[in-house]
Amino acid sequence: MIDFKYLGETVSLILNKEKCNGCGMCVKVCPHAVFEMNGSKAELTLKDYCMECGACQLNCAQNAIKVTVGNGCGCATGIIEGYFGVESECCSDSTCC
Ligand code: SF4
Ligand code: SF4
Repeated sequence: MIDFKYLGETVSLILNKEKCNGCGMCVKVCPHAVFEMNGSKAELTLKDYCMECGACQLNCAQNAIKVTVGNGCGCATGIIEGYFGVESECCSDSTCC
């Protein structure tokens, strides 16, 4: 899955480091290894690999992460359905992902 990279600077993902308590949940749940721990804080190291699935936001008890789930080509369902040749509900262009 790590090979799926999106257009640069289009991902809605935002990390508020001030709120982060270093629990590491975002690192554990992210399927694209977008986060890494740097000491006691999470860091966005591969932001453009984010597919906007929302798992990090859902699992961050500190509300330190904001992401628009299923936004545009970041929709995981669109990627999976596109892989199998099925037109996605999240995107009108079946050739884009
Ligand atoms: S899940 Fe939230 S609080 Fe925990 S390391 Fe990640 S950003 Fe920080
Ligand atoms: S939204 Fe999904 S892919 Fe993006 S950083 Fe969070 S867990 Fe990873």
